[in-house]
Amino acid sequence: MEFIHDFMKGYADWFYLIGAVLFILTLRGLSGPKTAIAGNRYGMIAMAIAVITTFFVADHPVIWMIVGAMVLGAVVGIARARTVPMTQMPETVALMHSLVGLAAVLIAIAAILHNNQLLALFAENGAALDMAGVQHAHMNKVHLFELFVGCFVGAITFTASVFAYGKLAAKKWAKTISGGWVKPVQAIIFLAMLVCGFYFFTTGNINAFWAMTVLALAFGWVWIAPVGGGDMPVVVSLLNSFSGWAAAGIGFTLENNMLIVAGSLVGSSGAILSYIMCKAMNRSIINVLFGGAMGGAAVASSNAGGEQVQRNYRSGSADDAGFLMSNADSVVIVPGYGMAQGRAQNAVKELANVLKEQGVKVRFAIHPVAGRMPGHMNVLLAEADVPYEDILEMDEINSDFPATDVVLVIGANDVVNPAAKDDPSSPIYGMPILEAHKARTIMVIKRSMATGYAGLDNDLFYNEKTMMVFGDAKKVVEDMTKAINGTGH
Ligand code: NDP
Repeated sequence: MEFIHDFMKGYADWFYLIGAVLFILTLRGLSGPKTAIAGNRYGMIAMAIAVITTFFVADHPVIWMIVGAMVLGAVVGIARARTVPMTQMPETVALMHSLVGLAAVLIAIAAILHNNQLLALFAENGAALDMAGVQHAHMNKVHLFELFVGCFVGAITFTASVFAYGKLAAKKWAKTISGGWVKPVQAIIFLAMLVCGFYFFTTGNINAFWAMTVLALAFGWVWIAPVGGGDMPVVVSLLNSFSGWAAAGIGFTLENNMLIVAGSLVGSSGAILSYIMCKAMNRSIINVLFGGAMGGAAVASSNAGGEQVQRNYRSGSADDAGFLMSNADSVVIVPGYGMAQGRAQNAVKELANVLKEQGVKVRFAIHPVAGRMPGHMNVLLAEADVPYEDILEMDEINSDFPATDVVLVIGANDVVNPAAKDDPSSPIYGMPILEAHKARTIMVIKRSMATGYAGLDNDLFYNEKTMMVFGDAKKVVEDMTKAINGTGH
């Protein structure tokens, strides 16, 4: 045992380096569906290396506590991972981020209390403590700064993530707040938090630390509570980034290089993802976080013109659509939020298989913000075992639409709205879209002519090449498959 301990401790930096490289490979792997499973495995190995090494590096580990916490965490984690439905993934991720934030706060509190204990011990028992102990007890400015940053970022992450979880899970207590008082209150709490944090940083006063922590917890709530429910996925991605920075800050406090590296990777990748999401929605991060709900703004502007004009559209049955598709050379399926909502992914896979058997070339076109979370459609299609090579990103497929016989839009709306390209007055003008309107025939499955997330009417539905097929996504797709198989009548 002694030998293993000495070996692990002696080579800890090397193990951490291997862990860090594996974490980088994890992110690389997770960037594409084909490599995602390998990416996940790298991540698991890296995390195991990180935890085991840290276990041996600690001077006096309280083994029963560490093992107990790990077993408890593993039991809860495995149970949740096995039971969580795909549709509840965003709120589960939010809840996990809240735990990272809470861990950062608790570690900061433990570091402060531990330090105060050392100081008290020294005061009582000066001669018994050597100079190293004394130096350790007097935290230097760098340590105070790390604790200040790690704790306040962690506290904000904690309450903001709990709110995001509540909002996404439609809990009653997670109410969106609005009104003229919100921004001044946000500003006052934020400034008060900074003042307390600064006082703590300059004097080491523990009461200032407590006040800063409480204010940061309050700030997390009032900061996120005004954000509209639909913007929560961007917020969750941003909180992911925050949880990484909080972990990195605490990594400095604990002098753990692995935590610094892993925290920085999570922090920067989360920030990049938030940026990509905002870009794909044609919004700025400031607008998402401080501009209130986009859905509300968009609806208001689309209705601002006064009365709704009655417009004509064509509708057809699932049988008609099935017949048309089975006679096409190429079909591109564009899934959107409605496919997730209607849990239609398996039925869609079945439809694609049946069409392929008829000799039709079938591909899937994925918009980066289709659905309600990054990768939403990829996850659902992977769950249904749709081959990766059939799934194309927006940039890969857009040039193919003019030569496509049929585009089948399943519960997508904003991501195929041509106003984003043609109408400078549209709130989504500039957002990149899947150019489904360029295909020879367009079929749209949705339940009504209702708007999507952005609250905007969609010219695609009134296009003379478009046939609307009304109904729940799963039922309609199943009916289409039956029709193609010749059993629909
Ligand atoms: P939309 O929200 O624009 O439209 C979804 C459509 O699906 C609706 O018009 C709805 O029409 C239809 N629908 C809903 N349920 C069903 C069902 N059971 N069966 C059939 N149809 C159904 O979705 P998109 O995927 O096109 O666009 C995503 C939007 O979400 C974008 O505006 C994006 O900016 C936003 N967003 C995306 C995020 C992400 O990370 N992916 C994050 C935050 C926002 P009807 O009610 O008539 O059936």
